[in-house]
Amino acid sequence: MAITQKTDICFQCGKERITTKTYKEYVNGSLVTTTQSVCSDSACQKRTEDLIKKDKARRDEAAMNRYQFGNRKSVKGQIPKS
Ligand SMILES: [Zn+2]
Repeated sequence: MAITQKTDICFQCGKERITTKTYKEYVNGSLVTTTQSVCSDSACQKRTEDLIKKDKARRDEAAMNRYQFGNRKSVKGQIPKS
């Protein structure tokens, strides 16, 4: 399996992102390479982290609501890889 290495660009500011950590893990039985990266602009990276935090809080809340209100049809959303 060939993995094409391409430059990671920040979706916020378009600057290059710096890879901080690369690790391999099994997801559903297949080995995937997960890369963690941060924006080269630290101020932007902070904004991005805040956004991710807010987004996660919103998703947790939605999941909680689904749990509380029972059998609502859940909409399959795309979960961005962080
Ligand atoms: Zn950025």
